[in-house]
Amino acid sequence: MAGLARSMRRIGPILMGVCLAMCCLSAPAPAWAEGETLAVGVPVDRPPMFYRNDQTGEIDGIGVDLVRMAGEAAGYSVDVKALSEPTLKEALDSDAYDVVMPLGSAIKSAAGTPTVISDNLIQTPFTLVTTDRRSSMPELGSLRVGMLSSQAGVGETIKQIYPGIEITFFGTTDEGVRAMRAGGVDALLNNSYVWSYTLQKPAYSDLVVVPQNMLSMDFKAGAVDTPEGRAAIERLNKGIATLQDTNRQAVVLDHTTRRLYKYDFFDYLYQYMPAVVVCVVLFASLVAYGVQKRREERREQEEKVRDLMENDTLTGALSSMGFKARVAELLRENPDTQYFLTYANIKDFKYINDSLGRKAGDDLLRYWFTRTAAYLTDKEALGRMGGDRLSVLRVATDDDDLYKIDSSVHEHVRNYFVAQGEEYRVRISGGIYALSPEDYENPNVDQMLDYARVAEKRVRETFADGYEFYNAEQWNAGRRNAEIVAHLPAALEGGEIKVWYQPQVDFSTGQIVGAEALCRWEHASLGMLSPAEFIPTLERHDLIHKLDYHVWERACQDLRRWNEQGQRRAISVNLSRSDVREGVDIPSFFSNLIDTYGLDVDQLHIEITESAFVEKAEELIRTTAKLRELGFRVEMDDFGSGYSSLNMLKEVPVDRIKLDLRFLSGEGDMQRGHVIVSHVIQMIASLRMDLIAEGVETEQQALFLQEHGCSCMQGFHFYKPMDVESFEKIVAS
Ligand code: C2E
Ligand code: MG
Ligand code: MG
Repeated sequence: MAGLARSMRRIGPILMGVCLAMCCLSAPAPAWAEGETLAVGVPVDRPPMFYRNDQTGEIDGIGVDLVRMAGEAAGYSVDVKALSEPTLKEALDSDAYDVVMPLGSAIKSAAGTPTVISDNLIQTPFTLVTTDRRSSMPELGSLRVGMLSSQAGVGETIKQIYPGIEITFFGTTDEGVRAMRAGGVDALLNNSYVWSYTLQKPAYSDLVVVPQNMLSMDFKAGAVDTPEGRAAIERLNKGIATLQDTNRQAVVLDHTTRRLYKYDFFDYLYQYMPAVVVCVVLFASLVAYGVQKRREERREQEEKVRDLMENDTLTGALSSMGFKARVAELLRENPDTQYFLTYANIKDFKYINDSLGRKAGDDLLRYWFTRTAAYLTDKEALGRMGGDRLSVLRVATDDDDLYKIDSSVHEHVRNYFVAQGEEYRVRISGGIYALSPEDYENPNVDQMLDYARVAEKRVRETFADGYEFYNAEQWNAGRRNAEIVAHLPAALEGGEIKVWYQPQVDFSTGQIVGAEALCRWEHASLGMLSPAEFIPTLERHDLIHKLDYHVWERACQDLRRWNEQGQRRAISVNLSRSDVREGVDIPSFFSNLIDTYGLDVDQLHIEITESAFVEKAEELIRTTAKLRELGFRVEMDDFGSGYSSLNMLKEVPVDRIKLDLRFLSGEGDMQRGHVIVSHVIQMIASLRMDLIAEGVETEQQALFLQEHGCSCMQGFHFYKPMDVESFEKIVAS
């Protein structure tokens, strides 16, 4: 405060001098009408001196209140207007205002017109603000000071008072502060009331007021020096004269205590920086924690899924997927251990489920798997390959190892239901594959399982129970079968499948009386295939009907051609048991064929093998009856080769019996065989059925047959099956 008083004392006389000079220069003013409006131009960017009131939208401030009080006391009605010009000097030249504020002393307008200024409305303190926390500052006259460019007028006055001062003007306080922080100026100078507002900005919290260098400035209104300007100022001065210091202090207090400073986003950001940093860090940690947690959950989830996929819930063994992975792992970890891989199946498991209940089936599986698991070490693995299929990767210690397992596990499994008082004995079919050195280098577990499966299949297809070792021939046979099946459609299309004929003769006359159509397959890659090989394969894959439809059709085409050539013949075709399928009406199928090719019904004989009648008795008996009703001749093929031939004779009404002589060719008493044949011939004759003997290989056989009343024959002794061209030649000769 001592500094302030010193400064006031120093500049007081100078200011007064300036004012006096102004007053003396003033010309006499015109008279003003009472109640006239005084337009006062003020800046609005200088709270608390001049600003826009947020609530009312009106221009407000210390300067506004003071000029209004003075104006109204002088009989004006005061209209405060915001300056639209960038500087007060320019505003002085405008017609929009009668007077402008604030001026410290008389200056020239922008146009160069001198001004007339009012008495002092209030003495305003000006203070330096700096970032430098030194206790004292050098004299004002030797400082580099920053001011707002809108205060250029005040700046001019100060420069007159302190010629040594270096003033730099800035557009905004921010620019000034930046320049000061960068060392461009020593301090910023502004109205103390304005500082009281500006320093509320959080970003300026490092700025300090320098009390020693305080100075006091006049706060006046001014107008260009014209008769009107002079009149307005003169009258305003009368009002100013009525202002009391108490009024002034009240106005200052009113505006400096209002919370005028409005925080913007950056202010908040600055003020709450530590809190913001803490929040950001907290938020980031939360996010990171969430992500981590989510990752962990996902990993757990994946582990659960993998566990479900790799383990079987019913038996506790590995699932097929898990087993394969474990086997590959074990082989890589133990390249010097001799392993074998087993694949086993419970025979007729479906029967167990159906007749003893699913639970019994499940219990049996659980029992089998847990007992097997009990004999395993860490270097071995047990997998459930779906359904009732069990696989083990087992270390081979010595040759009879398997039999030990067999007795320790399988004997119990076999008697599982017997032990519960049931009569049923469980049978297991299993295959074993002994691993070769190549299997360890690049484990192909699927392939190894296939090998074991091939061996298992051998047991499955017999009534036997137990294990078989895999051998390469089985594997090759399997591969060949797969190729046959896959290639069938192309073979049918591409003409690889041919129809050959084997003539049937009447031995007494030597005439060819018929022929059997037999298929031949000239396979593109496998060469000539025997029906004995591919027919059972196609039957197993339920594909034989495709081949048969083809053969029947070709035979019908040949018959039509011969009919057209005037050589009417009859041909026997073979019908397989699997041709009789659900949804297929075989008798209608043959009828259509006959119609399509314009044949007579007696030209097509249908051979059905004896054993088929055993397997599909009902369907085949029905089919046979229907075929015969339609006029087809039905023959029972391979008679004597099966087990129930005699029974069949009773049950199945056929037109002709095809007696297979090959059953005689096995070991045994030929004499007894002949006795049987002779009696069969007699019996068939008594049943009034026709008879043909097939597989006749010798003259002796032929003579014997004829002697006993069978003259119709087919066999290598007469002709082997031949292609259609050869057949036509032979028949023609
Ligand atoms: P299958 O119907 O009993 O046919 C007679 C088989 O005996 C033919 O064998 C024939 O070549 C052979 N054979 C004929 N005479 C003699 C002989 O004196 N001695 C010997 N050892 N064999 C003789 P193939 O052609 O190999 O046919 C085998 C079986 O394949 C046929 O037995 C038949 O069941 C089946 N088959 C052939 N072609 C077809 C067909 O197109 N469809 C159906 N479903 N089965 C067919
Ligand atoms: Mg046949
Ligand atoms: Mg036959």
